[in-house]
Amino acid sequence: MSRIDLHLHTTHSDGSLRPSEVLTLAKAAQVTALAITDHDITAGLPEALTTGEALGIEVIPGVEVSSFDGKSELHILGYCMNWQDPLFDSRLAALRASRHRRNPLIIERLRAAGLDVTYEEVRALAGTDSVGRPHIAQLLMNKRYVTSAKDAFDRYLAEGRPAYVARELPTPAEAIGWIREAKGVAVLAHPTWVKESGEGLKACVTALKEAGLGGIEVHYSTHTKAQTSSYLELGRQLNLLITGGSDFHGVTKPDIDVGRGRGDLKVNPQLLVPLKEAAARL
Ligand SMILES: [Zn+2]
Ligand SMILES: [Zn+2]
Repeated sequence: MSRIDLHLHTTHSDGSLRPSEVLTLAKAAQVTALAITDHDITAGLPEALTTGEALGIEVIPGVEVSSFDGKSELHILGYCMNWQDPLFDSRLAALRASRHRRNPLIIERLRAAGLDVTYEEVRALAGTDSVGRPHIAQLLMNKRYVTSAKDAFDRYLAEGRPAYVARELPTPAEAIGWIREAKGVAVLAHPTWVKESGEGLKACVTALKEAGLGGIEVHYSTHTKAQTSSYLELGRQLNLLITGGSDFHGVTKPDIDVGRGRGDLKVNPQLLVPLKEAAARL
């Protein structure tokens, strides 16, 4: 039974496998089309496209842009955009630079809490320009200050914890605008991150649609059946494209598999048809 996976991370952001390794897993999972959606970076796309050609997997250019709406951090997936567009590229580079301003402040707070860590160690471990808190969590695990990535977030890194530092992020409308200007389709990732429900959620997603949002990620590894059907209903009401993906990261989210999420995820290849049609119209 073929399936697709439109949300995957690699070593170019906080995933643990290279694009070619993710595609090899995708092949084994009978994934026929996929999107590599690294955080704020498209550097993994050339390797993904080449490997996709060799393995017979369709690779959709993707990205996951971080944004903040004043209340929640929201992630906006971009699909089929002109990822080599210089303006788009420079906007992502500026966004990554904001991480390099924030990360040393997080390290300072960890050091103030008595932990022996440096930003040089984090950068060496990350090995990519898209350095984020998961890499810091990994360093804390390696140094045995915490037992897991979740433990690192719960004790130090999450909002409200001692080493939390807010980040300068674009608004969701700005992130959507960047993707649209690069002729891509913008999709709200894991809508459970919206800290609203019912009419509040609908109002939030309606506002995003007015800013150019084209779709909503309905099928997602951690969604319950009830969440999936309520996001599907919302997407239909607002005439949004329906997408789905695992949010595979490799070892940092060990319970999530490429194409299958926690085992029962199955994103229908038919969803790709309207997505590509929408991109072709931009
Ligand atoms: Zn995300
Ligand atoms: Zn993601």
